[in-house]
Formats: sequence, structure tokens, C-alpha cells
Amino acid sequence: MSLSAGYTWTHKNIRLLGYSMAGITTSIVMPEADAVFDVAQGLPYQMNVSNILLTHGHMDHASGLPYVIGQKAMQGQTPPDVYMPPALLPPMREMMRIWERVEDHSYQYRFHAAEEGRAYPLKGPYFFKAFPTSHRVPSVGYTVFERKKRLKEEYKTLAREELIDLRRRGEELDDHAEVPLVSFTGDTRVEFLDGAPWVRRSQVLVTEVTFIDSAKTIENAREWGHMHLEELLPRLDDLKCEKIVLIHISARYTTKRVREILEDRVPEHWKTKIEIFPRPV
Ligand SMILES: [Zn+2]
Ligand SMILES: [Zn+2]
Repeated sequence: MSLSAGYTWTHKNIRLLGYSMAGITTSIVMPEADAVFDVAQGLPYQMNVSNILLTHGHMDHASGLPYVIGQKAMQGQTPPDVYMPPALLPPMREMMRIWERVEDHSYQYRFHAAEEGRAYPLKGPYFFKAFPTSHRVPSVGYTVFERKKRLKEEYKTLAREELIDLRRRGEELDDHAEVPLVSFTGDTRVEFLDGAPWVRRSQVLVTEVTFIDSAKTIENAREWGHMHLEELLPRLDDLKCEKIVLIHISARYTTKRVREILEDRVPEHWKTKIEIFPRPV
């Protein structure tokens, strides 16, 4: 693994590829949905993705945007759709205009304000919604959903032949469920957990936990718009997630130290559900 290739993390059919370290670099791709959460400084593993979902404008999450747009143009890829908190739209447009002036070249791209709760299409059965987060600058998180066909409850006891027969007669046997697969918080205080209800029941919650021990207090974390592990722990039993993946952990902690702290602090029945997004030692 290298910074340019990203780390891979998987759970069932969900695959994530990326890198995250507080204040340095955060960008995670979900290849199946053709989406990337944040772009960091612009890295090779993001290049084939068409949908860019920016959580906020801090440089370790968003400074690579002009570079990614430029690289995609150079490789002849389709111009990306870039979603961001509405307040970020004017400065980001301005920044692109400045880069276009610097390079004496105009680029193709589509910028969109991500309205909270509205569904935006991704590849195939996937779509996403933005949800509120709480940081020092305008910010949102994103959930990727999958549309799934499911047999309606009342037909579940029927034999296969009966179902075939009903289908042949034009009966609508399926529900269309919207399953929240992956929620990605970007940088946020713990309050994002009080917002959109689907975040708490996402199969996978990828959340920032910048500080994890007593060297930094909860107040320190809050002041900088971040979450402390000790704020997440009392909220775990409100969550219906299969996995919680921790990102944006401060570089002050080695991964070994993070493991020790989790071993010590996470309640027994949550230990197998909380994972660290792969990071360098
Ligand atoms: Zn950050
Ligand atoms: Zn930030």
C-alpha cells in the first residue's frame, strides 16, 4: 500500500478505498457507487471516479479539487459532478476560475449544492443524500443508499410456483427498499448523531474520531469542531450499524496505541463492530 494507491477496507459487498489522517489527508472512494468522499490533495486512486462528494472546504479534505478536475480532463475522462455544502459553491467556483487563469485553460465540471435530505443519483442502484454535521466551517456528511427489490411480507410464505403464477398474472410482489449502506461524516462534532435518522442505521458508519485519550479533552475536540472517542462511546447503543469505521484519527497516536485504547475503552459487545480504517503504523 502507498498513499497513491490507498488502503482497502471491506465488509460484505461494501468496499472502500482511501486514506485518512487528521489534518493531513482524508479521501475515501466507494468504487461500486462511482463516488469519492472528499479529495484531500488529489491522489491517483481517485482518478476514475465521476462523483465527488465534498464534506467541507478544509485543505486536507478539499484542496485537491482543481488537480483532480485537471487530471481527469488530461486523461479524457467525463467531467465530474462535484457536490458540496451550498455555502462552499461561490468560493469553489472562484477558485476554479483562478486556476483556469493560472493555467490559461478552461475545464469542464459540474458543481452542485448538496441539499440535505435530497436524493442524488450515483451509479446503478446507488444514490446518496447529504446529512447535517457540525464543524468550524459549513459542512455536511453523505450517505450512499442502495435501492433493493424485496418480496412483500404477505408473499413470503408462498411456494415458488405460486409466486411465479402471481407474477404471470401481473401482481406486484415486490417492495422497493432504500438501504443506507455507508454514511461518511467528514469532520464533525458528535451532534451529527442527532440529525438524519438513517445515519444511525447505516450498515457502515465511517466517522471521524480525532482524539481518543485524556491528553486531549472533549472540550478540546469540540472547540476544533471534532469528536472525541469518549463522546461516541455513550452513544453506541443508539446505533444500528453493523460496522463503525474510525477515520481522521490524529497522527499523534500510532495505530498500536489506537488499538490499545479501543481495547481498553470500547464495551465488549461493540468490540467486533468498531474498526480502524487502515492507516500507516
Ligand atoms: Zn479534517
Ligand atoms: Zn475540517
